[in-house]
Amino acid sequence: MRNKVILVVLDGLNYQVAHNCMGYLNGLIETHQATLYKVQAQLPSMSRPLYECILTGKRPVESGIVNNEVVRLSHHSSVFSLAKDAGLITAAAAFHWMSELYNRAPYNAIRDRVTNDETLNIQHGCFYHSDHYPDEHLFLDAEYLRRQYNPNFLLIHPMNIDDTGHKFGLDSSQYRNSARYADIYLSRFVPQWIDQGYQIIVTSDHGMNNDRSHGGALAEEREVPMFVIGSQFAHRHVVENIEPPKQTEICGLVCDLLGIEHHDKASCQMLLAGSK
Ligand SMILES: [Zn+2]
Repeated sequence: MRNKVILVVLDGLNYQVAHNCMGYLNGLIETHQATLYKVQAQLPSMSRPLYECILTGKRPVESGIVNNEVVRLSHHSSVFSLAKDAGLITAAAAFHWMSELYNRAPYNAIRDRVTNDETLNIQHGCFYHSDHYPDEHLFLDAEYLRRQYNPNFLLIHPMNIDDTGHKFGLDSSQYRNSARYADIYLSRFVPQWIDQGYQIIVTSDHGMNNDRSHGGALAEEREVPMFVIGSQFAHRHVVENIEPPKQTEICGLVCDLLGIEHHDKASCQMLLAGSK
């Protein structure tokens, strides 16, 4: 099984808000082209620790990336390093902390903002360093990378939902509307990605609370969506009531989809078509 994979991490998106506000993605579910799972974020429910969790399969207390101030390269193999070592092409349009975890730390905007270096784990990158960098522009950066470099694995990581949550809180029209905008941006690109055979995962690192923050163990901070879209997914959990995937299994799932053999990552193959 060798598929191209797009992983979209919508930073700071609470499960219930995704469920209620993302009409395009829910339309895909109603036509059996997508499935939504509720995933529990690992702890602490913070960004950099959970980027590392999603991309390496390691819990923060295992990876050592236990808060946002740990600025260093990851100590673990990641989707990026495993894909690169398998001869695949990797790309990311993402917050600069991704560059710090998998390419070079600390981030140097002049050197790293636009990255093209096949010796790095993220070979092609468009990185940003302002939380209000527009999601709309970020999706265009990602689409540029996709068309220009034809990556096997593309990470897309916009920040505006999290940024809005820090300004207005979980229970705010502004936070909900930022999720609605992300849904619209996705609707501009996902139809082409589906037509071209991509397997697409849309998830988040952590949720948000009404104190305009996150980091702890409240349900609203931990519960995040995981939409899976594409022909390689079974789209059957409602009928068969299978276990929801774990955040630590996303890395292995992406590796399985990419056809990377002999990785040691936990996966959730029950989500895939053809699994028992
Ligand atoms: Zn945040």
